[in-house]
Amino acid sequence: MIEVKNLVKKYGNHLAIDHLTFKIEKGKIYGFLGPNGAGKSTTMNIMTGYLGATEGEVLINGHDILKEPEEAKKHIGYLPEMPPLYTEMTVQEYLDFAAELKKIPNNKRESSVEEVLKLAKLMDVRERLIRNLSKGYRQRVGLAQAVLGFPDIIILDEPTVGLDPKQIIEIRELIRNLAKKHTVILSSHILAEVREVCDYIMIIAKGKLVASDTPENLEHLMDGSESVEIEAKAAPSKIREILRPVTEISTVKTEEHADGTTTAVIETKQHQDIREKIFFAFAGAGCPLTMLKTNRASLEEIFLELTQGESAVPEITGDVEDMLSEDEKEDETDAGDL
Ligand code: ADP
Ligand code: MG
Repeated sequence: MIEVKNLVKKYGNHLAIDHLTFKIEKGKIYGFLGPNGAGKSTTMNIMTGYLGATEGEVLINGHDILKEPEEAKKHIGYLPEMPPLYTEMTVQEYLDFAAELKKIPNNKRESSVEEVLKLAKLMDVRERLIRNLSKGYRQRVGLAQAVLGFPDIIILDEPTVGLDPKQIIEIRELIRNLAKKHTVILSSHILAEVREVCDYIMIIAKGKLVASDTPENLEHLMDGSESVEIEAKAAPSKIREILRPVTEISTVKTEEHADGTTTAVIETKQHQDIREKIFFAFAGAGCPLTMLKTNRASLEEIFLELTQGESAVPEITGDVEDMLSEDEKEDETDAGDL
């Protein structure tokens, strides 16, 4: 559907996109995940033909977005970060106008606009001026515009930013609905959002694609390094001796404390649960364990590790209300950047 090859974008000397290559397949929801400034909007603007690339190419169903823009753009609906809404128009007028721009045939315009008005739940406000609408409603108008004409690919740049929790849930539902028939690509700096909505996550940091996989596979990415951490009342040498019969263990790192206890981080060769074996080894040796826990790399930790060094702190909780406050903070930083 979409092929992005070796994309590079420089703003002056600043390398915003650093050789991005990826493919988007049909009928899935893709999430571009990355902290503020990672290059998500720049990538989306290039993919949709709004911005030229410094190097590389973008093919939409085989059509080069720069060489055959008309043909390529037919397949795409785009909700940019800041949708260019004509605030002196009513919702209906704006969508009629958008239908004209999209060259939807005359005899289909009315029904197409009706359909997106219903889909985005805008029927009640269709005669209202856009300037009098709340942020949530405006976002829906932008979304309706992107979906208008039902292009194969719908690209949404941070579709939930600045919305309240109820609106966020509604927009997510709408996105899931769209994905039944369309390929959807959305960007977000919120891990929980991408994990909840997307079938496939592409983590972008400093203009580079640092990981791309299903949420499940990304969680398993670090399975090899799953470890068990213990604390026991014994010296490191004693602990190593007790653990020797547990053959699944690959490495043991110990740290001795002043109070005579030692903590040890134990790694296994494969993804194996050896907590019981460790427990019985210590019990058999008459050595009390004071703590035993599994350290499993979560998607949060993977995300943090992969995007380390970025300026913005990514939102990592699953709480919708937390997200809102983070979005608001984000808005402030955005304004500060201007
Ligand atoms: P994201 O959408 O992931 O927050 P952007 O694509 O907006 O990231 O930005 C990527 C990088 O490019 C950032 O460092 C940003 O400051 C820079 N950048 C974006 N747009 C411009 C521009 N028009 N001129 C100069 N630098 C820009
Ligand atoms: Mg952006």
